Amino acid sequence: MKRIVVIGDGMVGRHFTTTLREREPGWSVTVLAEENRPAYDRVRLSAYFDGATAADLSLGELDDGVDLRLGEAAVRVDRERHVVHSALSEYPYDALVIATGSYPFVPPIPGTDSPGCFVYRTLDDLEAIRDHAAGVDRGVVVGGGLLGLEAANALRLLGLDTTVVEFAPHLMPAQLDEAGGAVLRGHLEQLGIRIACGTAVAAVTTDAAERQSATPGGGNTEPPRAASGGLRLTTSDGTHLDTGLVVFAAGVRPRDAIGRDSGLAMAERGGITVDDTCLTSDPDVYAIGECAAVDGRCFGLVAPGYAMAEVVVDRLCGGDARFAGADTSTKLKLLGVDVASFGAPDGPLSTNYLDPTEGVYAKLALSDDARTLLGGILVGDTEPYGLLRASVGGPVPARLADLLARAVPDAELPDSAQICSCHAVTKSAITSAIAEGACDVASLGACTKAGSGCGSCVPLLKQLLADSGVSQNKAVCEHFAYSRAELFDIVRCAGITTFSDLIAQHGTGRGCEVCKPVVASILASLDNGHILDGEQAALQDTNDHFLANLQRNGTYSVVPRVPAGEITPEKLITIGAIARDYGLYTKITGAQRIDMFGARVEQLPAIWRRLVDAGFESGHAYGKALRTVKSCVGTTWCRYGVQDSVTLAIDLELRYRGLRSPHKLKSAVSGCARECAEARGKDFGIIATEAGWNLYVGGNGGFTPRHAQLLLSDLDTESLVRYIDRFLMFYVRTADRLQRTAAWLENLDGGLDYLREVIVDDRLGICAELDAAMDRHVASYRDEWSAVLEDPDKLSRFVSFVNAPETPDPSIRFDTSRGQPLPVMLERPRVRAS
Ligand SMILES: Cc1cc2nc3c(=O)[nH]c(=O)nc-3n(C[C@H](O)[C@H](O)[C@H](O)COP(=O)(O)OP(=O)(O)OC[C@H]3O[C@@H](n4cnc5c(N)ncnc54)[C@H](O)[C@@H]3O)c2cc1C
Ligand code: SF4
Repeated sequence: MKRIVVIGDGMVGRHFTTTLREREPGWSVTVLAEENRPAYDRVRLSAYFDGATAADLSLGELDDGVDLRLGEAAVRVDRERHVVHSALSEYPYDALVIATGSYPFVPPIPGTDSPGCFVYRTLDDLEAIRDHAAGVDRGVVVGGGLLGLEAANALRLLGLDTTVVEFAPHLMPAQLDEAGGAVLRGHLEQLGIRIACGTAVAAVTTDAAERQSATPGGGNTEPPRAASGGLRLTTSDGTHLDTGLVVFAAGVRPRDAIGRDSGLAMAERGGITVDDTCLTSDPDVYAIGECAAVDGRCFGLVAPGYAMAEVVVDRLCGGDARFAGADTSTKLKLLGVDVASFGAPDGPLSTNYLDPTEGVYAKLALSDDARTLLGGILVGDTEPYGLLRASVGGPVPARLADLLARAVPDAELPDSAQICSCHAVTKSAITSAIAEGACDVASLGACTKAGSGCGSCVPLLKQLLADSGVSQNKAVCEHFAYSRAELFDIVRCAGITTFSDLIAQHGTGRGCEVCKPVVASILASLDNGHILDGEQAALQDTNDHFLANLQRNGTYSVVPRVPAGEITPEKLITIGAIARDYGLYTKITGAQRIDMFGARVEQLPAIWRRLVDAGFESGHAYGKALRTVKSCVGTTWCRYGVQDSVTLAIDLELRYRGLRSPHKLKSAVSGCARECAEARGKDFGIIATEAGWNLYVGGNGGFTPRHAQLLLSDLDTESLVRYIDRFLMFYVRTADRLQRTAAWLENLDGGLDYLREVIVDDRLGICAELDAAMDRHVASYRDEWSAVLEDPDKLSRFVSFVNAPETPDPSIRFDTSRGQPLPVMLERPRVRAS
């Protein structure tokens, strides 16, 4: 059994360990990890400021066969004895893998260790930035590259007035040329971020230090500056920037000290020298990831590190894999602006496209005979990125003019084109997987790993699925050639109020169990009367049909609304009395209300009569509609509460009750960051802050749990309600059938940023319409059960047997257990095998 020691449980160290475990589970593996938490997704680090928690970013647990030593850094390697030392112990190895990553470069200027100065590399860094930001109003980021702009976005999300200082003459100098940098700068300045390019930072001083130098003889005669948090940045040209917080994001350097100290060969510009098998100058020591230098070059991206990890696993298992270099293409959204660079953007020939009005820039680099695409840059619109990146090294995939004017016709990629650069998956591997039955992006990811890295190849995967004839049809069903969102628009714009008009004018046939409830829901969302009115009644699925939830023994459950879970003793007594009188099983639900099970169809009206008389109304537990707004007790009772979560939850539940939507909607309000109401597991969740409310969207429990993401922070109550109105109405209008908010958001081109643009900045000019739609909903709300009780026609449908309305269904029987009735299940009919 081989003993492997890994130094570093970062992204690459973790990829190495899990890949090795899959291939060779019998070996002893020890991982020394300097950080106190297991590996997490550093690439998505900034999502922490967008609502993701440390748990969301975690790369998961290692299996029990790995000895993971958290918070225990390797301090020395004794190569002669084959032993790694930490401060606590020593670890013998047969093979050692160094995966220590990089550290952020901080310019060697005075004052960078002052309180309020940070770097941007680990979750601990981000936690410290967030805590410090709470007390200041301005922030400066030193570095206008990829990391610096991510940090700038983070400061913006924390509500700080943000300035970016970049030494180079333009932003993102490693990826963009001057023109691309200028277009990006324009976008960021529009967002209110100040940019100072061509500027070096010379010193950081604190108030205290300055006061000292301002004393007689100190030479500083300036008046005291406005309070901003106490730091002053002095630039090389002598100007000052007053700020409360500084983030240094001016590049990274390989963490190679452990290799240097143990006498391994080092690259001239830093990094542990490795060959193309990732072996260092010691035949038993490998280096992978950002600390390793191949041909003298370190890679600051995760994909090359993953490739190195796989090479070392293969080598240790007796294979002959070699590191073949790496694709350093980048595609990302920085502060809502699409930016991409791929291949080698500087070639012998280049061609550019600039549209200053739309803020779009593109550059393609070509070989000197203009036949081969070498690389390129895209800013403002990265639509052709997937196609272009996969074409690097081959012929230009379409007419240049079309590519640059973003009118790309169908273009054929060669089989060898690399579609997913994170996992080096070629087009032929994808098309083979499709031929073997992969029918969507998820199944392609499961069998080839494509699309499971940075995700930038997902549009190409969809394209390849479509090219292979795999249907990505969004039509609701065979009767309507439209998606749900399209049908919604048709109904709304054409003013259609019945299913028969819609199918006659825009569909075929008579409809089915798929399209009927969809149309019923659309008509209900557009306030077309009671769901059991006229022909609408026939469209509803079983639960809506009886305004109750069908249970496995054929009975129904009754769930009255209990807004925010607040209920008076009288109402509790009413529920108890009804349950006792009708022999119903009662249970408190996870959504803070009481469910009564076991009611026969013909009992429903009488039960609801008593409930309505006692002031209850329908809880819509049966509908694709708002279910509940759960709440904690907030400032009313809790000593930690900072806002009145109960009142807000009640107001929201009453506002959105009865709103029909593509799927059920759940919400919760927590009175402080302790989050007792679990608001982040809801479609829209609200968490109180000292200044107001944070709004999270797109969470759910269930089969695939998702945490809601932070959409807006520190809102006052009026703005909060308006943004929720718009969020809900936009979702109701545009989501697919049975698509919950999480899946809808994932598929929304532009994601959260786009959603903010639509509902906050009114990018589509529809906010007034969304507001009016919600106002109409609120004004026209009527309790569905009260309306049934007043209408003999509607009441007449609540019978077990249409031809014998007085006769209860004899197949429904109950037993008693734990003092309550439980259903007796009838045996299933047996079918004898022939
Ligand atoms: C904000 C941010 C955004 C990024 N965005 C992207 C992106 O969009 N695309 C992309 O490809 N890359 C991106 N990166 C870079 C990417 O995160 C790195 O390429 C990747 O994490 C490198 O993995 P690694 O394992 O080599 O280093 P790391 O992930 O840094 O892991 C190294 C680990 O080793 C530990 N360690 C160091 N010394 C010791 C020691 N002596 N003993 C024990 N443990 C030790 C460190 O504490 C660390 O946990 C981003 C990075 C950041 C910070
Ligand atoms: S979330 Fe905060 S306010 Fe609400 S109950 Fe928990 S600790 Fe109290």
